[in-house]
Formats: sequence, structure tokens, C-alpha cells
Amino acid sequence: MDILSGVTLTKQCYDLLKVIIGNRDAVIINQAVGELREKITDLQMLNSELASLYHAEKQITMKLTDENAKIEMFASQSANYEMHKTPAGSIVYRSKLSANDEVNLHYLCAHCYQNRVISILQPTGGKTNYNGKIFSTSICHSCDSHYLMDYLGDYDIHIPSSCF
Ligand SMILES: [Zn+2]
Repeated sequence: MDILSGVTLTKQCYDLLKVIIGNRDAVIINQAVGELREKITDLQMLNSELASLYHAEKQITMKLTDENAKIEMFASQSANYEMHKTPAGSIVYRSKLSANDEVNLHYLCAHCYQNRVISILQPTGGKTNYNGKIFSTSICHSCDSHYLMDYLGDYDIHIPSSCF
């Protein structure tokens, strides 16, 4: 049923009421009363369907409103970051530099960034040998991605293994 069915049903109810009011024949009145009851039941079912549809639409609207707020928040936050290639070749996002903002320089996980999540990379304290060069590593605690970050020097067999 749709809203037009409701209009049609309402008109039919009105017509049946006119029959009931304008007749003195008990058989016709009883028949009209029976039909009117059926129409009222149909209207109640239609009302229930419309209430369910309204509730479902309201849920969708709330979900979309929430999603839109998250997108707007990400758009606002992401304006403060730019794509950056680390010395090891990893692609991350980093905070845009201002004149005296070296202290606040930090990096974001590129994977999470693509999913509109701001996740700051944390240093692991570990070092990784990559093609004979040693790089520091950082981790994203949201998605567990590891990134090779700063160049620390060439791999040297004289470096004690306890440094790694
Ligand atoms: Zn991540």
C-alpha cells in the first residue's frame, strides 16, 4: 500500500458513511458497516506500514547526518596535513610546518588517512635494515601498519647486534 491507497481508502470510508447515514434499509446499512470495518482495518494496516517506513527513514537520516559530521570533521582536520615521503620511501601524511612549529611535527598513517581516520604514527624504538640502510620504524596503533621512517645510517657489520 502507498499513500494514494490511503487517500482512496479514506474516500471509500466517507462514501460508506454516507450510505449508512442516508439509508433506512437495515440490510444495506449492515453491509455498509461491514465494509467500513474492513476499510478501517486496511487504514490501520496502512498507518502501521507508514509508521515503520517513517522510523526506517528517520534511522537512515540520523546515520547520514552522523556520517556527514564525521566527513566534515575529517575535512577540517586533514587540512592541516600534507602527503610526505619518508627517507625510506614510505608514504605518510605529516603536519604542515609553520615557522616555529618543529616541535609539533608528527606523522599520520596513510592507510587510515585514506579511510578518513586521523591516526598519529608512534615510534617503535626499533630499527630496520632496508637495502643496506638502517631506518627507524613507526607504527599505527589503529591498523597496525609499520612504516620505515628516518635514515639512521648505513648497515655496518661492526654495529653490535644489541643496538637492533
Ligand atoms: Zn593506520
